[in-house]
Amino acid sequence: MLCCRVLLPAALVLAAGLFCWCSVAALAAADVTERARKFLTDHEAKLRPLEVSAGLAWWNANVTGKDEDFKKKEDAQNKIDEALASSAAFKEVKAIHEERKGISDPILARAIEVLYLTYLEKQVDPALLKKMVAKSNAVEKTFNTFRAKVDGKEMPDSEVRKVLKDSKSSDRRRAVWEASKEVGKAVEADLKELVKLRNEAAKQLGYKNYHEMMLALNEQTTADLFKLFDDLDKLTRQPFQTAKAEIDTKLAADCGVKVDALMPWHYHDPFFQESPAVFGGDLDAPYKTADILKLCREFYSGIGLPIDDVLARSDLYEKPGKSPHAFCTDIDRQGDVRVLGNIVPNEYWMGTMLHELGHSVYSSKNIPQALPYTLRMESHILTTEGVAMMFERFSKQRAWLEKMGVKVDDPKVFDETAAKVQRNQLLIFSRWCQVMLRFEKGMYDNSEQDLSKMWWDLVEKYQLVKRPANRSAPDFASKIHIVVAPVYYHNYMMGQLFASQVHHTIAREVLGGADPDSAIYIGNKKVGEYMKKKVFEPGRTLTWNGLTKFATGEELQAKAFAADFKGK
Ligand SMILES: [Zn+2]
Repeated sequence: MLCCRVLLPAALVLAAGLFCWCSVAALAAADVTERARKFLTDHEAKLRPLEVSAGLAWWNANVTGKDEDFKKKEDAQNKIDEALASSAAFKEVKAIHEERKGISDPILARAIEVLYLTYLEKQVDPALLKKMVAKSNAVEKTFNTFRAKVDGKEMPDSEVRKVLKDSKSSDRRRAVWEASKEVGKAVEADLKELVKLRNEAAKQLGYKNYHEMMLALNEQTTADLFKLFDDLDKLTRQPFQTAKAEIDTKLAADCGVKVDALMPWHYHDPFFQESPAVFGGDLDAPYKTADILKLCREFYSGIGLPIDDVLARSDLYEKPGKSPHAFCTDIDRQGDVRVLGNIVPNEYWMGTMLHELGHSVYSSKNIPQALPYTLRMESHILTTEGVAMMFERFSKQRAWLEKMGVKVDDPKVFDETAAKVQRNQLLIFSRWCQVMLRFEKGMYDNSEQDLSKMWWDLVEKYQLVKRPANRSAPDFASKIHIVVAPVYYHNYMMGQLFASQVHHTIAREVLGGADPDSAIYIGNKKVGEYMKKKVFEPGRTLTWNGLTKFATGEELQAKAFAADFKGK
């Protein structure tokens, strides 16, 4: 463990007692330390059983799909929210937080920091909170029931995507794309009101606006984030231009138009947040006969991070009523870690299982029980996503597959396709995140400005996609995440930066200066040792950037991520 407790030698404490002012200071320190310890103990006694039962109910609900399980989950969540909204508890943690410099145990001081933010988030005036929830639900409902209407007929979302993916007709694409954006007009007014309510809530808690508050609650600042994203912009602009030029040529040929004439509806995805499927090769072929579970088991145990106990508790194949997605959950922070999946033998599920099991090793399995329950979890959402993303990338590496004993019949096609898909996905996503981060900041800074114009200015600048001539529709409002997962997207991008930075550190320091492009970890227990000591064991005792520095020697930067695309 890196955070050793600072123990004052008894003699020093006794000596301090000789002087009146020292004794008062020491007493105050003992007092605040004691208060902090009591607060932490009480908090954990109250919250832990609620969180464990919420975790179990969430797991059961997703496995069974039964309403009664979802109801249990909701009840448990309401009790958690109620406990954290307590104004008496907040008053106490706020008072302790103000005196935190006097807390003699650094781990305890860190726990108070984390708890202060946890309670602060829930201190919004209940009447205002109710209005926000109602508004957000109204918008969500509009999204859920909205169907694009083309030629007077409703079109399901899957059909919209199919047209945007397959149609050779630009007119057809345009009609369907425009129809899909109509939802923006339907939610625009509600969204703008929601932004005002959110800003009001943030001001109540002492922040300039909601964007700034959300960052602060996640221990991030606008200045740091924008510096990072400006760097990322500089470092990815050229590789993105190159990748996009290649994609544009294909897209234009597919629709029989000039590259100059490409418009937003040509990019397969309604927001160009994903890579258009324009490169022919098949990444699924080697996985058709592979045993994905066995590959995961052998890979993780080979690097010294065995996951057999996780797999034994997991639910990994499709069945009726079950959630079609994938996630990993640490039920009790005492090693009961589980993965929900729906494995089918293809590349997507290989990557997804490597990802979820990556979360599973970064959990109470490898974070010491000696840490308080409050800190016995990942440092930050971006660090656990980063670890998962780092392992996920191996599903697209032929050298990894072959060394794991899976035969790749057409190596050249696999390599070319995999490299392009990987590069395009990551670059396109990074440019999309630039738009989301900057748009949301602008929207919460000033929701009265011309948001449609700001949206398209950003799309043109960062995604290099042209705005349709004379369009003045609220296209920003057609992105549901702005409503349901506000000020959140950047964490995924930062997770990718963390993945690259940790991977480069492993190549350099654990694998003796190996080339990051070909470092695949297989069978090397030192990789697991490094991950345990430098990434997992600190738990939440370190902030995300503190952990990044501890694990890699530097704060989070864009350069390792950018290096992954150089010359490709
Ligand atoms: Zn994840």
